[in-house]
Amino acid sequence: MPMQRLPTSTSKLVTCAQIITSVSSVVKELVENALDAEATNIDIKLEGNGLDLIEVKDDGCGIAKTDMPNMCLPCYTSKVCGYEDLDKLQTYGFRGEALSAICSVADVTVTTRTSEDEFAMAYAVNDCGNIVTAKPSHLNKGTLVTVSGLFRKVPVRKNYLNSGRRAAEELKRVDNIVKSLAVIHPGLRVTFRHNKCLLWQKSACSTLCQSLMQIVGHFVSSKLEELLLRETELSVDMLVPRRETENLAVLCLSNVDCMMLYINNRPVRYKKLEKMVLKYISECFSGQPLTHKYPYCLVSIVISPGEVDANLEPNKTRVMLKEEI
Ligand code: ADP
Ligand code: MG
Repeated sequence: MPMQRLPTSTSKLVTCAQIITSVSSVVKELVENALDAEATNIDIKLEGNGLDLIEVKDDGCGIAKTDMPNMCLPCYTSKVCGYEDLDKLQTYGFRGEALSAICSVADVTVTTRTSEDEFAMAYAVNDCGNIVTAKPSHLNKGTLVTVSGLFRKVPVRKNYLNSGRRAAEELKRVDNIVKSLAVIHPGLRVTFRHNKCLLWQKSACSTLCQSLMQIVGHFVSSKLEELLLRETELSVDMLVPRRETENLAVLCLSNVDCMMLYINNRPVRYKKLEKMVLKYISECFSGQPLTHKYPYCLVSIVISPGEVDANLEPNKTRVMLKEEI
């Protein structure tokens, strides 16, 4: 076949289906946007494993009327102006691609209201990210993004994600993402529902330990101790098993998910850091080997944004540090 330019709609669908790969990637992007908008309340609602409906409602700053026409277009962001701004990055988002990508693989409506607006407006957006209808709606200050018919245009993916076991695994992944983003913001209130059933909720609290308790429960959290390190360029908060714990096994799982690692509030999978934390904990419990076991712990590192590159992979869970640890 002679070489030809792909129609724009095809190339966009192909690229975007790579950015938005699953229900959990939609939820992750929408919750991160809510957090970037400084929300203190986030309500997440899924129906039909997220393939029928995903709704994320926040009480953040809302979207200004002048920004609305661009919000779902590729490469539009209010978070950075140029590459050099990544050195000062305080937000989860910076590429301006998530909403645009979600629009190409699903039907999207955005309802939003800023503190300047007298009432909210609901905007239906088409697959190119253009607004097709706008009508007044009911919402307090904040934003509600409704995503329906996810992967309708990518039927293989939809069928794949819809099969019983995979749908359950995907729901577990959503649960993990919601919890890992929520726990690092103690002051945040979150609800997470599937088919009207409340799967998890977190109330606002004041410490990281109280926040973690709402995931791991009182038994585990009461057996963790908090260690703090404060230096000019670096701060580390750790919740790790108390040294006096007699049986470390009760604070371990065979799944690495119980080790929650963060760099600048971003949940990360960082093998080197994981190994360091494991080494530290096993040294504290020298008599109790940790083979194939992972201890419950939370490690949050805050460093200058210029020291981190989160732009390695679409989902930003792998990062690179300028000065390797
Ligand atoms: P990015 O987060 O990288 O900027 P997105 O496509 O996720 O890109 O969002 C595009 C823009 O839409 C954001 O920069 C922000 O200005 C606005 N936005 C998206 N979601 C929200 C929200 N929940 N509250 C306020 N503004 C939002
Ligand atoms: Mg974003």
